[in-house]
Amino acid sequence: VSTRPGTERGLAVELSDLTRVYGAVKALDGLTLHLAPGELVALLGPSGCGKTTALRILAGLDQPTSGSVSVGGKDLTRVPANKRDMGMVFQAYSLFPHMTVIDNVAFGLKLRGKDGSSRRARAGDMLDLVGLGQHADRYAHQLSGGQQQRVALARALAIEPSVLLLDEPLSALDAKVRVQLRDEIRRVQLEVGTTTLFVTHDQEEALAVADRVGVMNAGRLEQLAPPAELYSAPATKFVGEFVGLSNRLPATVQGGTASVLGRDVPALDGSTSGYALVRPEAISVVADADGGATVTAVMFLGPLSRVTCQLVDGTDVVAQLASSDALRLQPGDAVRLEVEPSPVLVVAG
Ligand code: ATP
Repeated sequence: VSTRPGTERGLAVELSDLTRVYGAVKALDGLTLHLAPGELVALLGPSGCGKTTALRILAGLDQPTSGSVSVGGKDLTRVPANKRDMGMVFQAYSLFPHMTVIDNVAFGLKLRGKDGSSRRARAGDMLDLVGLGQHADRYAHQLSGGQQQRVALARALAIEPSVLLLDEPLSALDAKVRVQLRDEIRRVQLEVGTTTLFVTHDQEEALAVADRVGVMNAGRLEQLAPPAELYSAPATKFVGEFVGLSNRLPATVQGGTASVLGRDVPALDGSTSGYALVRPEAISVVADADGGATVTAVMFLGPLSRVTCQLVDGTDVVAQLASSDALRLQPGDAVRLEVEPSPVLVVAG
């Protein structure tokens, strides 16, 4: 956890063996997820995998069919939402449009019986934290979407929550504001040290902000790991295919070594003969009249480019190269593909 020493005041969160059944649908199927104090965990997964259900159960907005929720070692499974001391930011801007910005931020403090001047002081501090101190007296409806989400974040943090819950807080924003606010959320979260669960279906977002990313599939956690580990050592076929781009190349595995495109590379745990999941940046392309592959497309993407090649058996392989190398290649060129000796996961075909 990268929270600055001395600022940590979040609590440990434990979701234990949560199941949630809606009629015939098992939205959660034995989900266990622990967050360390001050940690930001992103829950990532395709639509319908149960991310929002997990967040709503942690918030107390929904009850698990079985399993338990605890925060700071206290069992909260049967504690109502308004007694859980959690700050929340949702996808839709949920401010009161006809209240001023500062009144929006102070709202939760008022509900908690804080007096007017301490409310204003605390709300003002929170607005400064998200960079909106100068807009305190505007009405919420006079702000842009990105500004409104900043206010929502300030409001969620004003009550000094033990846990911060973010449910797709950026998905209504345009690409540039999204990235700015994403970085801002992470900065603020590190500053206040609140344990945070961030639900998103956007993998770049998850990898960019989180201490650890939990990948969910069909109500279960497939892997929980720091972003770089999730990318370089996927534990399951689902994670290998869901996170980042992968080529599927025929491979045989023997004693921890995989043979891929005629090269021996380390096989990750759990590998079985079938298809190796190989990242585009782990493939190099070398001009070779007898190389057995042909360039079919070169796509310039800035400093890096994507080169698509076809093997004699018709398999398409995508390589990512420095543009200076890629732009020497053209569709129709005969090439040889080489796999870097980085570890790969090999999954059954
Ligand atoms: P998305 O990214 O689309 O929001 P999600 O991963 O957050 O998806 P959930 O909203 O947790 O997924 O839903 C998980 C499953 O539970 C889905 O199949 C959904 O249709 C179902 N579900 C969720 N809430 C209810 C409900 N109140 N009644 C019936 N089914 C529900």
